Formats: sequence, structure tokens, C-alpha cells
Amino acid sequence: MLPQLPSIAHVPDFAAELNEQQLAAVTTEARFSLVIAGAGSGKTRTLTYRVAWLLAHGVPGWRVLLLTFTNKAAREMLERVRKLVGPEAGDIWGGTFHSIANRILRRHAPLLGYRPGFSIMDTDDQKALIRNLVKKHIGKQSKTSPFPKGDTLLSLLSLAVNTMRPPEQTLREDFPQLLKHEDTILKIIADYTSRKREANTMDFDDLLANLHLLLEKHSEVRELYSRRFLHVLVDEYQDTNALQDRIIKQLCTGESTGLMAVGDDAQSIYSWRGAQVDHIFEFTKNFPGADVFKIETNYRSVPAILDISNAAIARNERRYVKTLRPARPPGNELPTVVPAPDNHTEAQFVAHTIRQLLDSGMKGREIAVLYRAHFHCLDVQMELTRQHIPFRITSGLRFFEQAHVKDVIAYLRLLANPYDEMAFRRIAAMLPRVGEASGSKMWQTWTQALKKHETECPDEPVRDFGGLMLPAVKVPPAAQASWSSFLATMSSLRPADHELTPAEMISRVLLDTEAYFTVHYENYEERLEDIEQLSRSMSDTESLDDFLAQVALLSEADRDHVEGNDDCVTLSTIHQAKGLEWKVVFIIFLGEGMFPHSRTIYSSDPREMEEETRLFYVAVTRAQDLLFLSYPRYNGHNPDSHFCPPSQFLTSLPPELYELGEA
Ligand code: ATP
Ligand code: MG
Repeated sequence: MLPQLPSIAHVPDFAAELNEQQLAAVTTEARFSLVIAGAGSGKTRTLTYRVAWLLAHGVPGWRVLLLTFTNKAAREMLERVRKLVGPEAGDIWGGTFHSIANRILRRHAPLLGYRPGFSIMDTDDQKALIRNLVKKHIGKQSKTSPFPKGDTLLSLLSLAVNTMRPPEQTLREDFPQLLKHEDTILKIIADYTSRKREANTMDFDDLLANLHLLLEKHSEVRELYSRRFLHVLVDEYQDTNALQDRIIKQLCTGESTGLMAVGDDAQSIYSWRGAQVDHIFEFTKNFPGADVFKIETNYRSVPAILDISNAAIARNERRYVKTLRPARPPGNELPTVVPAPDNHTEAQFVAHTIRQLLDSGMKGREIAVLYRAHFHCLDVQMELTRQHIPFRITSGLRFFEQAHVKDVIAYLRLLANPYDEMAFRRIAAMLPRVGEASGSKMWQTWTQALKKHETECPDEPVRDFGGLMLPAVKVPPAAQASWSSFLATMSSLRPADHELTPAEMISRVLLDTEAYFTVHYENYEERLEDIEQLSRSMSDTESLDDFLAQVALLSEADRDHVEGNDDCVTLSTIHQAKGLEWKVVFIIFLGEGMFPHSRTIYSSDPREMEEETRLFYVAVTRAQDLLFLSYPRYNGHNPDSHFCPPSQFLTSLPPELYELGEA
């Protein structure tokens, strides 16, 4: 037994706050352990208490690594731990695999040949780069045999990286329809990879791939971290992919590093991104001597919702069958299935019901509307707006993807990494009369000047951008004044005698971009406010690298947090609702062909329908008290067939488990 240290501010009463099965997992002395249990059984809670338990027994926070599905989840869990045991929680490394990879690579990426201060490409940059390369390699598209879109190539590459297979193998196995373009596709992918390298940037997948490479090639770094972390804890383990799993193993190669993973095989919904639920099944083989814990009580949902959840997942054959007992007493109401005449009526029903709930004292944040695909929420969005019901939406164009925010951030990215071609080109395109061709020329001369500077003053970041670049980079005469002003701004961001905070940098950049914004964006005042909000929301971030990493690494599900509004109804895709819970949940567009998706219905691979079924299970298990399942009988959004039968997920539910409602 670990010694109990008196220095901890407050030791929680573990036995009172956990059930027996949870307590067994929290207090285990096994080096490796897996907690496998159904939705809402307290897996995340168990992991949180496990961290508290470790701290309460003398493990220093800095020796704990907590890997979660979103950075927000990690923050919330650590906040919980802080409340349980006090400030020791502050030193814990917690976040997504990507953010932890970033943290480690910031220190060691030069070992892999990167320059210090690499930048992170966001999805937009990736798309822009690959589209450019497709254009370069293909020229004009042939009408008879159109070349795949850049986005498809990115999906292929991403799947290859995350499943640790070469692109050619992934192409053959998962994208056979593209085989006729194999040579060109592979050339484009090779070109994409080297362009990222030259620009000293990594995309999201590179963060994981490079962390893996770093730990593989540099045993001293692997030892450093596997010795540092005494305990690695992983939430949502069912959705780790091959690469993430390998990284976990690398971190656990230390003699005593312990691992606790929690997950639910019935909630694995990311196989399209290479997640492999098999990791859960193979856990005891991969980590010999591992203990497996099960939790069989559900704390989240009223029994009637639990019945629906159990019926929903019963369609799939499962390897780990979990019988969940409800901890909560029965509620008064059965879940409601609502066939609406059409999509507008469905949206009106949702908005109207939400209005009633709010009027009866419920908070907006206790309500969620969930759907299979982003566009399913358009009508609900409009209806809520019409009825003045505040909502936040975890889809669509996000804050950091908006043009004006990216314009400002491009300056900071270029400052941190002057080889960042995407950032440079964005800024060049803001100059008058600079197009593709002159932009390319400018970029060439810019990098030549940088390399010269690097040879003459190694390890010295550029401070005087004007002095270095004005004589080196030729710009069209019409752009000269803006160019000089840009360079002066860049120099002002790095004064010789002190360092500016990112917020101060943003104010200076704004002085330079304001004129451009006024001319190019019609609602420029709002856009300026956005940027001021950005600088305020990040005001506690002191280092430029941290700031840029935060901007790039907020995963989709994290982002609404930054825009924060506490009392809003949540509109979210089911994928992004993983791990969360609400008192009231609406699942909309439950029509056959929409959810399950028509592709799945006609697929010859039964695994696709199984994953779709798990997605439905994830959706219904988000609900605590009330659940509404609705669909439009007439769907104006579907050009092929307006008539929409109910989803097989609904028709296969035993009718005694729900009541029929009317829209
Ligand atoms: P998911 O599979 O959706 O991620 P989960 O298994 O991680 O769910 P949690 O989110 O940890 O479940 O817990 C679900 C709810 O049940 C939370 O509100 C949690 O606080 C509550 N809960 C879990 N265990 C207990 C317990 N022993 N006593 C009281 N409440 C509990
Ligand atoms: Mg959870």
C-alpha cells in the first residue's frame, strides 16, 4: 500500500464517493489496468478519482500524464482533482494526444531535423496546400476521368498515418477506386510532405507521427519521459488508433510506468479515422498481468432511457457484454418518439419544447440537440434564432478558421517560424497587386534571405525584418508601402530589450491590418471586436509558442469553450458529444438514410452498420432525464427522395419502451 501523505490539503472520502467496483479500480496496485464499462457508469469519474488517489498517496503531479478526448475534458477533470486534493493537480500534464505531442516536440523537434519554433498547420492550410499541389500536378482536369479532390487525398494520407501503413497500401486497401491515379497521387503526397518540411510545419497527424518517431529513434528521449511519468491514464480508450496506442506503449516502457485505460467498446465511433476497438480486447495481451475492472451501475440516466440504450446496442454482437443496473429511481416519463410531417415542423417542435423547458426553469446548458451530420441542424438553428433561444453550435466555421482571425495569426506564425510558407502567402495575398506569381517570387527571395541570416547569425532569431528583407525581397511597386509597413510591424513584435505577450503583439498587428480589414470585410467592426476578444481570451498566455499551439490545437469539440456562453442550448454532432451529458437530449433527423446514413445501409461491409449503431448508442446515452427522438417524414433537404421513413434504429425499438409524440 502506498503511504498516505499528510501534506495533501484534503483527502477525499474515496469509499463514500465511489461504488465498490469503482473503488477497486481507483485503488488498484496493479501496474496495468483496464476499466471497461458501459456509458454513464462513471469511467471518467473513476479516472478522475484515480488521479486524486495517486496524488493523495504521494505521487507528485508532474509524474502523472492524463490523456483525454478533448483538452477541455482534461481541464475539467483536473479542476475536479484540484477540488478533491488541492493545488498539486496543477503540475499534471493533461490534454489530448495532440497537445501532449506538441508539448514534447516543442522541446525535441530539432532532433528530427526541424528548426526551433515549428508551426502547426490547421485543416484550412492543409487543404490550401494540397489543392495547390493537385493543380500543379494535374493542370486542367480531364472530364472523362476526374482526379480526386484534395480533401480525399488528405483523408487517405491521414488514415495511412494513423493506421501506420504506407500510403500505397492504404490506397490499395481503403481507396481502391483511386488506383488508376496511383502514381500521381503518390507524387502529390510526397510533394505535400516535403513542402510541409520545408515550411518547418507539422499538420495534426505529423504531431503524433513525429512523437512516435522521436520516441522510437531517440532512446534517451523515450527514457526521459517513460521515467518521468509514473502513471499514464487514458480516457475513451476505445477510440485510440494504432499510432496513439504505440505511443502509449512507448511511454510505458519504463520499468515501473503504470497505465490505466478506461473505455467502452460499444462506444467506438472513430474507425473512419483509424481507431481500432481491438486495442481494448487485446489489452491484457499487450500489457501482461493487467487487471480488468468492470462497472455495472449506470448513474447518468433514468431507467427508461437506460432501457432504450440497452435495446439500441443489442442490435450489435458484442465481445464484452455489459449489463447495466440503473442507480437512479424511475422517472415519470418514457422517452418520446416524434414523427414530424416535415423538417420545418420537426425544428419547430424542438424549439417549442425547448422554450417550454426553459420557461419551466431549466437552464439552456442542460439541453442538447444532437445529430448525425452538420447540415441536419440548419432548420433547428433557424428556428431557435427566430424564437430568441440562445444556442452554441460545435460545427460550422469556427472562430479560428475565419479569414480575419487567420490574417492576424499569420503575422504571429511568421514571427515564430519565418519559414512558414502558408502564413507568408496569406500575408503576401493581402498586399495590393500581389498574385500567385509575384507571391512565389517573394517567397523564394524571402527564404534565401532567411538562410543567409541563419548562416551569419546562427541561433539568432530575426529581429530587424526591414533591414533583412527590404533589400532582398522584390515586390510590385504598388505593394511597396504596405510591404514596408508589414516589415516594420514584424520588427516591432520583437523589440531588442523585452518580450511582448501575444496579446500585445496582436494589438500591434491590428494597427497594420486595420486598413486592409476596412476595405475587404464589410462588417469589419465586428471582426475587430472578434480579434480583441481573441486577445482577451488568451491574455494569460505568455509565450508565443504556447499561444499558437493553443490556437491550432483546440480540437473542434474544444472550441465552443473559448467562445463560451454559459447558458446556451448545445447543438452538436454526436461525434463531438462523446463523454458529455445533458438533462434533456433531442436526437433529430432520425430518418432511414440520414441516420443510419444511406451509405451504411447499402454497404456490403456489416462493420459499417455496427459503427452506426454504436453512434446511435452514444447519442441516446448522453441523456439523463428526458430523451426525444424525432424525424421528418418529408425531408426538403434531400433532392433524391423527399419521402423519409423512420430510421431502423427507431423501428427496431420495442414499442413499449417509448411513447409516440406529435409535432
Ligand atoms: P461515458 O461512457 O459517456 O464517457 P462515463 O462512464 O465516463 O460515461 P461519467 O461521465 O464518469 O461516466 O459519469 C456519469 C455520471 O454519473 C456523472 O454525472 C457522474 O458524476 C455520475 N456518477 C458516476 N459514478 C457515481 C457515483 N459513484 N456516485 C454518484 N454519481 C456518480
Ligand atoms: Mg466518460
